[in-house]
Amino acid sequence: ILKNVRGTLERIKPYSPGKPIAEVQREYALTDVIKLASNENPIGASHKAQEAIREALSELHLYPDGGQTLLKQALAKRFSVSEDMIVIGNGSDEVITFICQTFLEPGDEVVVPTPSFSEYDFGTILMGANVVPVPLNSDFSYDLNSFLDAITEKTKIVFLCSPNNPTGTYIRKQEFRQFIENLPPHVLVIVDEAYNEYVEASDYAQGLDFLKEGFNIVVMRTFSKLFGLAALRVGYAIGPADIIGYISRTREPFNVNHLAQVAALAALEDVEHMKESLRVNREGKQQIYEGLAALNLSYIPTETNFILFDTKVDAKQVFQSLLKKGVIVRDGGIFGLPTYIRVSIGTAEQNERFLRELAEVL
Ligand code: PMP
Repeated sequence: ILKNVRGTLERIKPYSPGKPIAEVQREYALTDVIKLASNENPIGASHKAQEAIREALSELHLYPDGGQTLLKQALAKRFSVSEDMIVIGNGSDEVITFICQTFLEPGDEVVVPTPSFSEYDFGTILMGANVVPVPLNSDFSYDLNSFLDAITEKTKIVFLCSPNNPTGTYIRKQEFRQFIENLPPHVLVIVDEAYNEYVEASDYAQGLDFLKEGFNIVVMRTFSKLFGLAALRVGYAIGPADIIGYISRTREPFNVNHLAQVAALAALEDVEHMKESLRVNREGKQQIYEGLAALNLSYIPTETNFILFDTKVDAKQVFQSLLKKGVIVRDGGIFGLPTYIRVSIGTAEQNERFLRELAEVL
C-alpha cells in the first residue's frame, strides 16, 4: 500500500505548527504566556461576530449554506464586484490549494517570492508541480523584473504576497503596473493580500484596482487577521468570473461552516472593531519600532501587523530564551533568515513585555 502513495508526497515536509500557549505553559511551568507568533488580532474577535455565533448555536444540526449566499453578497457589495467573482474557502490556506488544484499538473512551474508564505510551495508540490523561488532584494523589497525573468512557457502561476509575510514589505503601484503589462498572457497572477487592511502606504498596489481595470489577476484576502477570526477559518479570492468559476469547481459543498459564515458576516459590519484593531496596531507598531531602536536593533518597516527584525545573533537561541520566559515569537530560521525574528504586534502591554524580555535575553 505504501508503494502506492504518490511520490510527490515525499517532497512535502510534515507540517510542524508553532507551539500553542497551553503547551508552552505546561512545558515551562508558566502561567502567563503570550503568543506573538501567528499575526493574530490581539484585541480578539468582534463582539458582534461572537454574538452572531451564540445565536447560530441553535442551528448546529443543519448543514451550512453551501452557496455561502449572504457572505458572498456582503463581500460583493463591499468590493463592488459581482458574486460570481468570489470564492470562499476554509481559510485562505484552502483557497491556495483550490487555485493549485485548478491549474497545476506535474511538471508545471509556479513562481513564488522567497522568503514568503509557505503555503504556495505546499499547494504547488501537492500537485506535482515545481516551485521556482525568486528572492526578494536584500532590503526585502520586490524586484518584479526578476519575477518576469523567472517565467517560462511551463509557468502557470505567479504568487505574489503584498504586503509580504514574513517581511512586511509591499508592491508599489507603478512597479506592479509595469509587471502586469509585461506579463505573458498564459500566466495567472495571484496576489495574496492577507494583510491588506493594515496598509497605510499610499503607493501600495491594490490588487482589486488592477482587477477592475481588466487584468487577469486573482486577489486573496482573509478574516483571520484584522477581523480576528483565525479560529473559524474564512478566506476568499476575488477574480475574473470565468477563472473563479473554475476555481470554485474544486470546492467541497460545505467547506465553510455555518458559525464561520455568520461570524464573518457580522464582523464585516463591525466598523468599530476594525477601527479599534487598526488603532491598536498603529500604536503597537510605533511602540515596537521605538523599543527595537532603543536596543540598537534594525527592523524592516512594515505595512502589516507583524515586524521582522535582525537580532544580529543566532535567532534560534533568542527564540528559545523568549519561549522560556513565556513569550512566543517566530524564529526567522524557518524562513531562511537565521538571525531574524518575526514578532506579531500585540496590545501595548504585550509589546512592553516582549521588549522587556527581549532586552534581557539579548
Ligand atoms: N496568506 C498569508 C500571507 C498569511 O500570512 C496567512 C496566515 N498566516 C494566510 C494566507 C492564511 O490565512 P488563513 O487563516 O485565511 O488561512
